Amino acid sequence: MPVLVMKFGGTSVATLDRIKRAAKKVGVEVAKGYDVIVIVSAMSGKTNELVGWVNETSPLFDAREYDAVVSSGENVTAGLMALTLQEMDVPARSWQGWQVPLLTTSAHSSARIEEIQTDNINAKFGEGMRVAVVAGFQGLSPEGRITTLGRGGSDTTAVAFAAAFEAERCDIYTDVDGVYTTDPRICEKARKLDKIAFEEMLELASLGAKVLQTRSVELAMKYKVRLRVLSSFEEQSDEAGTLVCDEEEIMEQNAVAGVAYSRDEAKVTLISVADRPGIAAAIFGPLADAGVNVDMIVQNISEDGRTDMTFSCPIDQVARAEKAMNAAKAADSINFHDLVADTDVCKVSIVGIGMRSHAGVAAKMFDCLSREGINLKVIGTSEIKVSVLIDRKYMELAVQALHDAFELEKTA
Ligand code: ASP
Ligand code: MG
Repeated sequence: MPVLVMKFGGTSVATLDRIKRAAKKVGVEVAKGYDVIVIVSAMSGKTNELVGWVNETSPLFDAREYDAVVSSGENVTAGLMALTLQEMDVPARSWQGWQVPLLTTSAHSSARIEEIQTDNINAKFGEGMRVAVVAGFQGLSPEGRITTLGRGGSDTTAVAFAAAFEAERCDIYTDVDGVYTTDPRICEKARKLDKIAFEEMLELASLGAKVLQTRSVELAMKYKVRLRVLSSFEEQSDEAGTLVCDEEEIMEQNAVAGVAYSRDEAKVTLISVADRPGIAAAIFGPLADAGVNVDMIVQNISEDGRTDMTFSCPIDQVARAEKAMNAAKAADSINFHDLVADTDVCKVSIVGIGMRSHAGVAAKMFDCLSREGINLKVIGTSEIKVSVLIDRKYMELAVQALHDAFELEKTA
């Protein structure tokens, strides 16, 4: 029988009533003839509570025990979902990650999936089981310990199962009814997209849109898993939500598909570093080693053999970046006059595969922001996105102005 993967996020399984509502949706698909793999998150708020308990017990915790604790939220919802389905006379059972087994690397708290063995679940489907309820977010390390996949990891579990079982589709049920042109809380003209290309979704997710874990989109793109984002609070229909799919499936394309933002950015400038071969490696090597996620980089024109080097990173990594740079300076591997951190910035980005074929998209963005009197501090581009770093107080204004300028409220 064809397989469908249905993933329910924390708000969709937050109470017994909601689990019932979700189970009914599963029942509808079973009645259509699908064997269903249900991936569940922990009840909303549960994982945060578990993380809090770990931190309170042991600030410098053993990551293996962290995973043992924080993976438990999903075990509860998996069992409850299986019981709810059984009450509806749907043959179902729960599976924890190690039982599948879903094998991962041993990078505790951010493990990567290596393999999903399909034999056990397929054997049960063969015996008449119609729904395998799998605890999301967790797996088994080569050492035989429980691992977790990083916050939001159930999305990745779901896509990986869809790929492994060659599912017809992977439906991600959440508390919003799809992917929007931008955050509707910031811009009331935001429009729900019917379809979005993998590449665009990947950029939007990594640039700050929170609907899907970035890695789940990477996986979906790699294995061409048709991914649908939809609300568990609305009536079921085959057209509901947003389909994340191959760009070939999207006929009409605006130059820009969406506007993303990330509020908590910082801009760090090393003033007057020697401009010589190897200087970028001497700066960004230690930053990478210190776990600083550097995003945009600008090197100024140099004067008298010295230059300023500017980069952006998440605001909560500035202290780490400063420490790493001061250590490198003390070790004489770099030399700079001053380090200046601007922590009042945010990043606003436009994303669209249509940019490849439309000229002047960046110019239009800059013109739009200049009309609002917004100064651009750093600019970064890729083939399908343009990002700018601006003062945080202009974030909402910039998002709204760009949404208007590119007429994102209109379909192509
Ligand atoms: N419960 C985990 C978290 O909150 C995983 C997930 O829900 O995707 O991060
Ligand atoms: Mg999530």
